[in-house]
Amino acid sequence: MNKELKPCPFCGKNAEIGIAFNALYIVECQNCFCRANIGGYDNIEKAIEAWNRRVCNE
Ligand SMILES: [Zn+2]
Repeated sequence: MNKELKPCPFCGKNAEIGIAFNALYIVECQNCFCRANIGGYDNIEKAIEAWNRRVCNE
């Protein structure tokens, strides 16, 4: 996998991939803890794409 996470659109810090309580992948900023989505994704690449798309849109 060679997808990269873009920086947080709000604070510019690095985001990291995490696993939610329901075992879904989430991406969240390590500084302000904003998340790309609420429910998470079962596919790690989808989680990354969702995060990156969100950064581009804002
Ligand atoms: Zn942030």
